[in-house]
Amino acid sequence: MFLIGVYLLWAKDISTSLEHAAFLVGMGAWVLYTIGIGIAHMVVPDLDLQRLVHFTLPFDCVALGALVLATSVWHDPFYVWVMLESMFYAMVFRRARSWTYSAFLVMAYLIGRFADPSLDMSVVRVLFITMKVCGVLAIGWFVGLMMERQSYRADEAEERVDDTSELNARLERSVAELRAIAEITEIIHSTLDFDAVGPVVLETLQKVIDISAACIFVIDKAKGQTLFSASKGLRADISSSAYGQIDFTTGDLGIYDEHFACMELLDHNQMIVVFCADSEAIDTLGTDDRIVLQAVAAELVVAVENSRLYKLTKRLAITDELTDLYNYRYLQQRLDDEIGRASRYGKQFSFLMLDIDDFKAVNDTYGHLVGDGVLAAIGRVIKMTVREVDIVARYGGEEFSVILPETDASGAFIVAEKVREAVSFHRFFDAEGESTIHVTVSVGIANMPLHAEDKESLLRQADDALYQSKNTGKDRVRAPRIRLSRLDVDPDEELRP
Ligand code: GH3
Ligand code: MG
Ligand code: MG
Repeated sequence: MFLIGVYLLWAKDISTSLEHAAFLVGMGAWVLYTIGIGIAHMVVPDLDLQRLVHFTLPFDCVALGALVLATSVWHDPFYVWVMLESMFYAMVFRRARSWTYSAFLVMAYLIGRFADPSLDMSVVRVLFITMKVCGVLAIGWFVGLMMERQSYRADEAEERVDDTSELNARLERSVAELRAIAEITEIIHSTLDFDAVGPVVLETLQKVIDISAACIFVIDKAKGQTLFSASKGLRADISSSAYGQIDFTTGDLGIYDEHFACMELLDHNQMIVVFCADSEAIDTLGTDDRIVLQAVAAELVVAVENSRLYKLTKRLAITDELTDLYNYRYLQQRLDDEIGRASRYGKQFSFLMLDIDDFKAVNDTYGHLVGDGVLAAIGRVIKMTVREVDIVARYGGEEFSVILPETDASGAFIVAEKVREAVSFHRFFDAEGESTIHVTVSVGIANMPLHAEDKESLLRQADDALYQSKNTGKDRVRAPRIRLSRLDVDPDEELRP
């Protein structure tokens, strides 16, 4: 439309046949490439504008040259077009170098202008044309420069946005990691007996590390003993197979198979912390993931150490050092428990009081050290003779006691006889390490509620019975006499001294 308007306006300007021909060529070129662009736009998806204008530039130059040739230098209606084209190319290429594209347009303009044989080459005209040409080049350069700066700033801003969002993502992850570590630390340190917290630890880890199934072990390298283990999402046989791959002496973890792998997280004070999971997941663990795992491992090691100390202290508080049996304090506690159970649920239990016969003589003959050894050995003999559920304690000095839960008086008598026989048959080590020492024990038994209704009377009855066995020749078992008034059982069943 623009060209037709121009033609109608300046047709009087186009007078020679050369000018007519040039005008038609210019218009033809322009229409042709406009149609070409339209088709290309429809046929090629996501058409790159920069590539397209490389294609249009020669057509533009031809059309422009021809149209300039067709019109006079003073009216010069297509000069505006040259200007606009120059700006357009500079905007598309967004570079200060775009003046080179303007130069092509300028060359086309100059050729069109000077190809006119009727042109009157006066100095004023040449100067006029030169100014016009410089104007086109300057516009191309200026617009290109502006566009380049703007696009540089846009790139910079985009980069900053990218950086910020990356930083934000990292920050968010770090916060999540810290929160998970704090949560795990709290869980681990909330209890000293922390075996049950393992799955919770792994579950919390999974919030920040993308691992669906995993197991974690804290291992005492010297003893080859697992101090803590937890697994999540794994069958027990798989986690124990993974564990089987660990060589404790070298600390070698060994790859379980192509699908499953273990990695050492920490080696501290003879303890190693091992983490096992899907080998692909292990391979793709990032530095951040490893830091989180190592932080958790460090907490686990401290917690395991605390727990070990706690268990040891707890054991020492209830254990007699010489015999490794329960001590007097624990015996009293368990007696209270058993009496409570007996009165609440109508249950019964029996109590044995043992005293080594003539133990003073053993000490005198073999010395205190050997005496100590004999005491410890008697403790072992008693323990081996009774059931697992029975509670064997050192009552004091060379006296022992046994609580027999759910055992009636006649059952207790049988157990007491077995213990007495076992001790009597046993030969204990003397100072030379020879099994020569023969000792016997006297035993007094008492049953709750048959012989007593509270702890004091139970202990007194057992003690009295023990006194009876000492008085009647030692190396024997005695039970208290039952007062007939208390009896709701057949008196013939009474266990007589
Ligand atoms: P019996 O009980 O048969 O009447 O005679 P006994 O010689 O065993 O007398 P008693 O029960 O009064 O003896 C206690 C002795 O046990 C005294 C002490 O030397 C010894 N004894 C107590 N505790 C220990 C100990 O821890 N180690 C050693 N070696 N001896 C102990
Ligand atoms: Mg004694
Ligand atoms: Mg004694």
